[in-house]
Amino acid sequence: MVRILLVEDEPAMATALRSVLVREGYVVDHVSGVALAREAARFGNSDLVLLDRTLADGDGLSIVSDLREYNPGVPIIVITALGGVTDRVTGLDKGADDYLAKPFAMEEMLARIRAVRRRPAGLHLRQIKLGRLAYDLDNDEASVSGKRLDLPRRELLVLGTLMRRRGRTVVRRSLEEAVYGFDDEIQSNTLDSHVSRLRRRLADATADVEIHAIRGVGYLIRQIS
Ligand code: CA
Repeated sequence: MVRILLVEDEPAMATALRSVLVREGYVVDHVSGVALAREAARFGNSDLVLLDRTLADGDGLSIVSDLREYNPGVPIIVITALGGVTDRVTGLDKGADDYLAKPFAMEEMLARIRAVRRRPAGLHLRQIKLGRLAYDLDNDEASVSGKRLDLPRRELLVLGTLMRRRGRTVVRRSLEEAVYGFDDEIQSNTLDSHVSRLRRRLADATADVEIHAIRGVGYLIRQIS
């Protein structure tokens, strides 16, 4: 499953893009402005971002750094009517991987998507590091000092969700959504038991990180200082 975050504020354009992408088998998360895109960026779960620049509440490029922080190495294709050389250079300087100037053919967009996805991650390592712990976003794997940490699937998903927002509180609901499917029955204490097992494993591996509970709110992961 390839998940695309589509940031586009013109309804007709958004509808057209979404239907083409869905027909190609992509899963599309659509948001229509900078503020919502910034929220979506925090989930860090997109495989690619199609980012319009001229949004009602600002320049789409202003969320590139958030996208990079929460989802290192995610390919970003900037879509815009500002097709001039200066705008193109600004977009690429800000960390976009490619640039599509409106109007463009849908076929061209699909080809660009395939091309950026084929590109090796290069300098952008799709890995988040904290202490001695590293989390690989492409393969959902955790390692401590380069040694793979074997974790049950649900603990791994808890860890991945915490690592994407390292240093910040993740609310219980977000963690539960990451770990359980819609059909799973969630028992109120299971998240806590996943976390407590995960804590023990991280301590055993001397990962140098701790999962801190924020009572009544959620959890956060941080480096042990
Ligand atoms: Ca627009």
